[in-house]
Amino acid sequence: MLDINTISGPRIEFDTDALQQNFAHLAKLCAAHGIAVSGVTKAIGGNPYIASLMLDNGICTLADARLDNIARLRAGGIDAPVMLLRAPAMGEVAEAARLADIFLLSEIETIRALATAKAKLGECLQVVLMVDLGDLREGVPPEDLLSLTRAVMATENVDIIGIGTNLACNLGVLPDPSNMAELVALANQIEATIGHPLRYISAGNSSALSLLLNPGLPSKINYLRLGESLFLGRETAHGQTLTHMRGDCFDLVAQVIELKLKAPRPYAVRGRNAFGQQVDVELTEPRQLGVLNVGAVDCEIGGLSPLTSGVSIVGYSSDHLIVDTTDVSDLTIGDEIRFRPDYRALATAMTSPYLAQAGFQASGASLTLEGTPPCLPLR
Ligand SMILES: *Cc1c(COP(=O)(O)O)cnc(C)c1O
Repeated sequence: MLDINTISGPRIEFDTDALQQNFAHLAKLCAAHGIAVSGVTKAIGGNPYIASLMLDNGICTLADARLDNIARLRAGGIDAPVMLLRAPAMGEVAEAARLADIFLLSEIETIRALATAKAKLGECLQVVLMVDLGDLREGVPPEDLLSLTRAVMATENVDIIGIGTNLACNLGVLPDPSNMAELVALANQIEATIGHPLRYISAGNSSALSLLLNPGLPSKINYLRLGESLFLGRETAHGQTLTHMRGDCFDLVAQVIELKLKAPRPYAVRGRNAFGQQVDVELTEPRQLGVLNVGAVDCEIGGLSPLTSGVSIVGYSSDHLIVDTTDVSDLTIGDEIRFRPDYRALATAMTSPYLAQAGFQASGASLTLEGTPPCLPLR
């Protein structure tokens, strides 16, 4: 346990009540449609404390794209089944076999290598075959699914336990009645080929929720892998906030380390900034500028929205964030400014070794710290 008062550096704070509300609500909503949820932990860097809240609130399996994150879950005592969302590199096969229980795969070479690695552990490889329904990320083209299925059947020590697809990630192709019907037809084809029902018909990520709510997914679809919706409270096909879901689970907090009125000056020659970009911000009247102790090395700054009214972001470099605070009264050095992260900002902040992570329960006015950072701040 950390005392929140000892975390004075820049940090990401999470509200455990809000998160639990989201987890429980989505798990229940999906269950009412016959769908089980895998909680995708990549946006939280595999934080085991948050993962355990998922498991306490109706989410039965976890999923992540990265072995480092799964290792963090395991080190944090999580023993629930974990799905590896991204195929491991060939050199990672042994570690992947050790850390994950279910694999989303589309290449026979990887399947063979993992089957061998699992055999050494005395386990059978459990595979969800991925099919690409038009988003052009991972997955075999539908017309090649049957030959992949046959090749897997001819491989020892593999169980085909599901079919999955991933949409709305690369090209932004949304799940729709037609590609969902295609997924079901392909699932039926695989079942006929392997001679037993599939456990998982996995229609995708948070972009499927809008279709789930209206008009509904085909009844055979029984599984979703959800990340963003659980953490940010919104579906991702249209970015709509879901009812009964909270969008205020995470705050990024940074401190004002300089606060000065800066008047316009005749501009010297302006070249590129710290990131090699030409910037066109001009100071046309005196403004009070605050410099905060967070920067692009810590988090995707473009994904932060200030929560303090009157504060706007005017620039940043690797280690500094510059905000206009002219319209904020009573601000002093040492004050903290809060930001709401979007998905990119959340994922980068939660994997930054420079930011502390602090969970709290909003009980009355006081904050009770519950979480500890999965990766310790370097300080
Ligand atoms: C990241 C990912 C998800 C979760 O996506 P969200 O939009 O965060 O719900 C699901 N499946 C796969 C394969 C992923 O890579």
